[in-house]
Amino acid sequence: NAPHLKSNSTKQWQDKDSAHLLHPFMSHPDLRKKGARIVTGAEGVYIFDSEGNKILDGMAGLWCTQIGYGNEELVEAATNAMRQLPYYNLFFMTSQPYAIELAAKIAEKAPGNIDQVHFATSGSEAVDTAYKLIKYYWNLKGQPQRKQFISRDRAYHGSTTVAASLCGLTGMHPQFDLPIEGIHHVSPAPYYFENGGDLTPEEFTDVCVKAIEDKILEVGPENVAAFVGEPVMGAGGMIPPPPGYWKKVEAVCRKYGIIMWCDEVICGWGRTGEWFGSQYFDIEPDIITMAKGLSSGYQPISAVAMGGDLAKTIRDGDEEMVHGFTYSGHPVACAVALKNIEIMERDNLIGEGAKDRIDYFQEQLASLSDHPIVGETRGLGFLGAIELVKDKKTKERFEVEGSDAGFICREHCFNNGLVMRSVGNTMILSPPIIITKDEIDELVTKARRALDLTA
Ligand code: PLP
Repeated sequence: NAPHLKSNSTKQWQDKDSAHLLHPFMSHPDLRKKGARIVTGAEGVYIFDSEGNKILDGMAGLWCTQIGYGNEELVEAATNAMRQLPYYNLFFMTSQPYAIELAAKIAEKAPGNIDQVHFATSGSEAVDTAYKLIKYYWNLKGQPQRKQFISRDRAYHGSTTVAASLCGLTGMHPQFDLPIEGIHHVSPAPYYFENGGDLTPEEFTDVCVKAIEDKILEVGPENVAAFVGEPVMGAGGMIPPPPGYWKKVEAVCRKYGIIMWCDEVICGWGRTGEWFGSQYFDIEPDIITMAKGLSSGYQPISAVAMGGDLAKTIRDGDEEMVHGFTYSGHPVACAVALKNIEIMERDNLIGEGAKDRIDYFQEQLASLSDHPIVGETRGLGFLGAIELVKDKKTKERFEVEGSDAGFICREHCFNNGLVMRSVGNTMILSPPIIITKDEIDELVTKARRALDLTA
């Protein structure tokens, strides 16, 4: 069950880990106290730890292993590409077929008129790239005053300097003197459970959209470069927008000639049941950032894809575009992403082919709403959330010794063989999109048990 664990014991690995490894988003004293869990291998929708436990990965890693673990076709694609051309760059040549084919494939799958693609390695890099290219666009258009970016409370866009500044999770800012100038966050987040009050969902939509328009007017529409949003907010709490929200946001962006930027790092590549979240909401962004599911996480690769005047202006500008990375269009990463997309197409993992399993997943998730500490379940596609409450009627927060109960529930999940993530009192699910109905049953049974133990 722990195929990659060699002779060291868990304790030896933990000691070495705490001696040398700085983890992302981690309180290291806490980690040292408890000792890190050590993942040693994975297969299908399961991961294995160093204690021999088999754990259903309800988070697809970090929302990314769409086609599950241990896929030999991806291993072979990587190996072949590595033998053929382990590395070359795109700075002065096009070196191999993979980056070209992948750019064309992304253009084929993306919504609207998107037809230009630039590669990077992480979601954050894609976000920083999009931010720079949008600024560059407005400079080329002779509107250099358009430098203000509008984001939202609770947004997550990554952790490099620009991306973290765009985040509306304010806890991410003080340690690093962020946000940088020129970034505005709209409140309220389109989070009906928390912010909807007595409004109907439709009334709440209008409140949220008006808040965006008000912010544009406050900043001055002629100064606004772009509005950025995740089609479904992810790391901020898996928050699908209220009804009709995105169509109305799109109309506001068009009204003021503002670039509409969808950050699809989570929503892209089948997470919502469509290739892209923008297709789920029937909108056509000018620019999309993507990563994670693009390669099912098997290789670090991200992309910025754009269309229309934005793409044309940048492509046809007669000066050098002074931006790019050593690993932009890395052949091995592109080969893996191409094979990953080919598998999703061939195995009917998106659209009609996913519908039955998505309906089942959503039905089973909704069945947890009768639990005494569940204030709401919500979801779409292969995304789900469970709100923990002390009181179903008042939505009073569920706290244990002054802290949100989500963390405790997460530990109960782990100890019962399920990975669920917690953001405050919100439990989040984003399983591999290959998950079967039997595995969905197992997931929901384990989730219920964790809720029982938390209550
Ligand atoms: N944008 C969104 C919407 C994300 O969810 C994430 C990561 O979760 C990022 C950007 C950053 O991606 P990365 O962690 O690969 O830098």
